[in-house]
Amino acid sequence: MEQLIQDIKQMSAHEKKTLEQMGLKLSEEVGETNQAILSYLKASGNAYKQLGLDDVKEECVDVMLIALALYFRLSESDDELKALIRKKLKKWQEKVN
Ligand SMILES: [Mg+2]
Repeated sequence: MEQLIQDIKQMSAHEKKTLEQMGLKLSEEVGETNQAILSYLKASGNAYKQLGLDDVKEECVDVMLIALALYFRLSESDDELKALIRKKLKKWQEKVN
């Protein structure tokens, strides 16, 4: 996982999109994820796209990659990222329990 994070950080450094464009790209990928979910669930009017579970998984990864690239545009600190994930995870756990 550590090497993957380093690779994502490196790709982010080479990304030519502006911060705003990366934000729009993130929305696009979220939309693609929703489209894949609707097709996977054969929601009315969406089954014809014939997207399945693998497509949903791939779109989720697209969302994660763009979100991480956006994050690394704003911070180079892995430690800060880990601390923020722990903080948010803790909040989530408190809501569930
Ligand atoms: Mg995509």
